[in-house]
Amino acid sequence: MLTRRQFNRHLLTLTGAALAAPAAGLAGSALCPFGKLRAPRAKDEGWAQEPEAGEPPLRCFPRLVNTERLWETLQGLSRFSAPGEGTTRVGFSPEDLAGHNWLMERFRREGLEVSIDAAANLRARRAGQRDDLPALWFGSHIDTVPHGGNFDGCVGSLGALEVIRLMNENTVRTQRPLELVIFSNEEGVHYGRGLFGSRALAGLLEPGELEEVDDEGVSLAEWIRRYGGDPERIPEMTPAEGSLHAYVELHIEQGGRLWQGRIPLGIVEGIVGILRYRVTLEGFANHAGTTPMDQRRDALVAASRIILAVREIVTAEPGRQVGTVGQMRVEPGAPNIIPERAVFPVELRDLSMEKLDRLAEQIRERAAHLAAEEKVSFLMEPVSRHEPALTHPQIRHRMQQAAGEMRASVLTMASGAGHDAQAMAKLCPVGMIFVPSRDGISHAPGEYSRPEEVACGAELLYHTLLRLDQIERFN
Ligand SMILES: [Zn+2]
Repeated sequence: MLTRRQFNRHLLTLTGAALAAPAAGLAGSALCPFGKLRAPRAKDEGWAQEPEAGEPPLRCFPRLVNTERLWETLQGLSRFSAPGEGTTRVGFSPEDLAGHNWLMERFRREGLEVSIDAAANLRARRAGQRDDLPALWFGSHIDTVPHGGNFDGCVGSLGALEVIRLMNENTVRTQRPLELVIFSNEEGVHYGRGLFGSRALAGLLEPGELEEVDDEGVSLAEWIRRYGGDPERIPEMTPAEGSLHAYVELHIEQGGRLWQGRIPLGIVEGIVGILRYRVTLEGFANHAGTTPMDQRRDALVAASRIILAVREIVTAEPGRQVGTVGQMRVEPGAPNIIPERAVFPVELRDLSMEKLDRLAEQIRERAAHLAAEEKVSFLMEPVSRHEPALTHPQIRHRMQQAAGEMRASVLTMASGAGHDAQAMAKLCPVGMIFVPSRDGISHAPGEYSRPEEVACGAELLYHTLLRLDQIERFN
């Protein structure tokens, strides 16, 4: 992670003083229109869209998992959403808090020992035969992006609950204690940085992160307290080395490879690194009717040229790297005023961090040059840096074995999306299971996985955990 000094060194200005905007303030206002206390709304209709008739079924038949029960639990959680299309349950919001409370009750009913840790992660423990052994961790998240779906994070969280239900039904007693975790603010829509709960656990928070405030003037620390967490104690929460046996996460693919290949299960090789920057351009606001074209300092024109440059640079070399500008704030923002200010993120992803740093430098150089041509000032600040993480070969091997016994075909693949397993990889060996996303759609209302696909994923999670419980030590 970046230290504050490294962070400051990354700041680059062309016209200097005009751009003294504090980074924290920008993060709050530009990216996070959340934080208002609203009453959570119940949604029953259209929580998941059925696939078109005639689509071929996948070849995986869950034998243990209660598919209907798991599906109903997913539907139950989908009711916690802010109004509007799709599901909006942003991390650190009233809807998300209500969802956490609902889930906590379900964990208690299964006899789990439930707690909220310092970073507002929901934790549920199931005793093992030997509680002196390092615990086996698994789980996911239940927060969503605005107008997202009901499968990203939820499949893994409720698949984990289904695993506990199966163990209870079959009176399975593991050797090790089990720790089911629902990580807080994984998407990072609110406060602008993802993987919050898992980074907090792994000791990877940025300096000053807890003090950042949102549009409503509410600090991240305050939101943690509303959930029952204790921000002051976050520094103490990082587990001692060797105290976690492993972490396994079930998740939807969020891409289209499994769906297109009609493969029911994915075993993840590694999670790509994600580099995020915030670019601020400042020109001069003036009358759109009276200012000649050659006398303008138009921040949005410069932004447009930079967006095209991002695509050009990212596609200029072979590989699976991707680069995105997914947001734009323009000020003052009126049809008859030349845009004075444009603020937008640049996000890059790949399995190689070295490549990401190199691409970011190329983008910075080109963008600075384009901004100078448009006579606007330029600032490119690092916002977050998530290192790529590889899953443990022994975990992948046990997953392969378990999938073989389930007679399900699997695809070994990289994850293009970030996950809490990435931060957990700093603490222990990690593994991830993917289930198909219809048409590769995710972070949108059309996100969908079929009931039997979700059930297959949960069943593989169950068998994997039982196998990992038997491993004495990873090598
Ligand atoms: Zn997710």
